[in-house]
Amino acid sequence: MPVFGLIDANSFYCSCQRAFDPALKRRPVVVLSNNDGCAIARTKEAKALGIKMGDAWHLIRKDRKLAGVEWLSSNYPLYADMSRRVFEVLTDLVPRVEPYSIDEMFLDLSGINDLESLCVKLRQDVSQITKIPTCVGWGPTKTIAKLANAIAKDRPELEGVCDLTGAGARERYYRNLDVGEVWGIGRRSVEKLHASNIRTISHYVDADEKLIRAISGILGERIQSELRGDSCLRLSDMAPQRQGVSCTRSFGRPITEPEEMREAVCGFATRAAEKLRGEGLEGGHIAVFIQTSPHARQWGWYSGQRALSIPATNDTLVMVRHATRLLREIWRPGYRYIKAGVHLTDLSPDGAQASLLEPRNMAAESAMRAMDEINQRYGKQVLRPASIGVNRNWSPRQNMLSPRYTTKLAEIMVAGTF
Ligand SMILES: [Mg+2]
Repeated sequence: MPVFGLIDANSFYCSCQRAFDPALKRRPVVVLSNNDGCAIARTKEAKALGIKMGDAWHLIRKDRKLAGVEWLSSNYPLYADMSRRVFEVLTDLVPRVEPYSIDEMFLDLSGINDLESLCVKLRQDVSQITKIPTCVGWGPTKTIAKLANAIAKDRPELEGVCDLTGAGARERYYRNLDVGEVWGIGRRSVEKLHASNIRTISHYVDADEKLIRAISGILGERIQSELRGDSCLRLSDMAPQRQGVSCTRSFGRPITEPEEMREAVCGFATRAAEKLRGEGLEGGHIAVFIQTSPHARQWGWYSGQRALSIPATNDTLVMVRHATRLLREIWRPGYRYIKAGVHLTDLSPDGAQASLLEPRNMAAESAMRAMDEINQRYGKQVLRPASIGVNRNWSPRQNMLSPRYTTKLAEIMVAGTF
């Protein structure tokens, strides 16, 4: 019988900051998104003060109640590196570890005898070596492991671990937990389920499959099987997961016109989004940079970068819109730009951050799919957003930075692998 574990870092970004600054211990800490300045991670002390995810910093910073809060800018390179360290500690003890997001990893615990001791040790080692506090939950399916993890996090008396391998233990929680606590059951489905008198997880597990399918589709049915203990979401192959997708380029000649730069940057955003879709990923963070030549300072030197946390997406048109906006903020006239690029980070599996059962933007998704298919068949960017432009004489092939494949490597920079 398979056993899946889920280890999840507590307030991950804040914990990374604390790992390097003991003064932050036991204090309310909030990590802010790069540009917008809204809260994207909070310690439990900060949560207790009523700070919510997405609260805008400029609106709450002057609140006297929050005078003791430590506000920090996000530091994605640090978080990515800490995530890698956690992964390495885990792989020392567990043969198969599958990163799910930057701070959550699924574990294959099949065939292990003393699961409780192992999971306690996993937490201890991660905390000792990386200084990151975590919780571990485990059970016969991924959905149950995820639920076990949430229970471990919610109940301090469990000391960070929760075992839901036994049907008896599951039933106890199923009876008392709302169906909305289950991973993948979205808000709209929860409303419909409640209206059909399916309130607890027990109700959901015992409901007729046809009813579940009618309310929440095939995915809802799959979640029902998973909650019953039949695993249908497997640990995927252990392909290293990207941490970032980049598209950057040195221009064949300096760019001085904003319109030309806009076309170039939109082209990079298009290519990067395509790359994400090709790998079944979405990006939750976009950065745009432009710079002049450091070797031609007689023309004036300037380097601008702006970044933004966004709802996870791989939609070209959405990326192009964000990229255009960021570019507008960093563009300074009068310079001779020779390089620009777009970096997408905070990656997650396609659709993982959205709730599985929430209606997605199907029209946009099928448009993207059609675009990818046509481009695959007829050549790179036969179909593309009009914002990329038609002439693109800043990038004549012979003027790329490096010859041969190095140009392609420059386009696609992997910041690191898990
Ligand atoms: Mg977490």
